[in-house]
Amino acid sequence: MARPDESVVHGSKAQAKDLPAVDRLLRAEAAAALVREHGHTLVASEARALLDGLRQRAVAGELPAAELQPAALQAALAARIEARLAPRLRRVLNLTGTVIHTNLGRALLADAALQHLLAMMAGPNNLEYDLAGGGRGDRDGVVEDLLCTLTGAEAATVVNNNAAAVLLTIAALARGREVIVSRGELVEIGGAFRMPDVMASAGATLVEVGTTNRTHPADYERAINERTALLMKVHTSNYAVQGFTSAVDEAGIARIAHAKGLPMATDLGSGALVDLAAYGLPHEPTPQEKIAAGCDVVSFSGDKLLGGPQAGLIVGTKEAVGRIRKFPMKRALRISKLPLAALEATLRLYLRPERLAHDLPTLRLLTRRPEAIRALAEGLQAAVAAAVMPRYEVSVVALLGQIGSGSLPVDRLPSAGLAIEPVHKKASGRALDELAAALRALPLPVIARIADDRLLLDLRGLEDAQPFVDQLPALRQALSI
Ligand SMILES: *Cc1c(COP(=O)(O)O)cnc(C)c1O
Repeated sequence: MARPDESVVHGSKAQAKDLPAVDRLLRAEAAAALVREHGHTLVASEARALLDGLRQRAVAGELPAAELQPAALQAALAARIEARLAPRLRRVLNLTGTVIHTNLGRALLADAALQHLLAMMAGPNNLEYDLAGGGRGDRDGVVEDLLCTLTGAEAATVVNNNAAAVLLTIAALARGREVIVSRGELVEIGGAFRMPDVMASAGATLVEVGTTNRTHPADYERAINERTALLMKVHTSNYAVQGFTSAVDEAGIARIAHAKGLPMATDLGSGALVDLAAYGLPHEPTPQEKIAAGCDVVSFSGDKLLGGPQAGLIVGTKEAVGRIRKFPMKRALRISKLPLAALEATLRLYLRPERLAHDLPTLRLLTRRPEAIRALAEGLQAAVAAAVMPRYEVSVVALLGQIGSGSLPVDRLPSAGLAIEPVHKKASGRALDELAAALRALPLPVIARIADDRLLLDLRGLEDAQPFVDQLPALRQALSI
């Protein structure tokens, strides 16, 4: 007996010979319209890629004939082109509860920074041009004054990020010589930035002193010899050593260094330009405190608590910053005009500290009151519940968020949000993953976190709820409820 025809059983399958040639595909009116809009290069290359994919499936006997209908082919081509032109870098909603999230682009820029950035990039600017004298200027000049005013330092320079600032500081002040650091401060920050490796890259020899939990002034004093170039303190930004501990503070290390005619540098990591305690937040060391303590060099990030663009800020004495600025490696690590424009506008906001918690998004988000966030969660609960029922239940919960980016690792930010739980506890892990994936697949992806068998939406990061609410129908559709 003959086998039943496959196409009768499974629907008709196309064969490779049924595929149209690229030319024929492009001659159709719908494709011609795409060519008029996007040009021949992109449309032809996507048409070839489309046909290649279809051919492979046809050869494998897996291509439904319906996909070769002219209308289906044209729709597939249009979809490919749209996907090809869609940006890979996209805005998302950060509902993770971590305000300065390194994977989500760290600090949000202030309106003033966005506007200045756009205005400066729209045409030529005086990046390295002295408008008063009519000659060559220095890009450091854009922010040096501001940084000196805000930190009390004599001089300042800026590079691409704080990792670059640390590398450059060590290379400029200690290449070929020794740098003394406490064993309690040999930090690793994400992305393979480890203090011992940075030392090696900068061509300096790391001299470790003290122990993991205790380092004393005498440890530094004993380690100093004729090869010593620099004493350094690194802010342990992403962990805390607790219990039987002792460390020498910046003032103490600076005193020891200066007694031997050596400079002292500190890597603050985040560094806040205002005292966060004044806003009801945990205190984070400030560059101004460290300058006052006698540090010759203080470096910190532009896009952590400062709330600006990616940048590495170096402030300190004229002598030390001058050596850093003249060091050839500086040219390879220099800041681009884009973040520099945003940085200038961000720093300017600090000249009006009374307005800062309003004007600077990082501080605005960090100072949102838990009661206000809870009220927002209560307002959204019914709409979110309607989008995910009957598969999931939604409740308003108190949450603990964090500042993020290694700032203040042990402190938690009291917050609030929505917890979404699968109604059926069997296979709830899969149901949670499906929900998280559906949220990430929205046109404006929503990034949540999963903990204790619940998906948590921390609403501290949601200043304008409308874009979130507008997507709830799409979420319901994605979950095919
Ligand atoms: C974050 C951090 C850095 C790196 O700063 P980037 O601006 O991310 O390059 C260096 N040191 C410490 C202590 C940090 O916390």
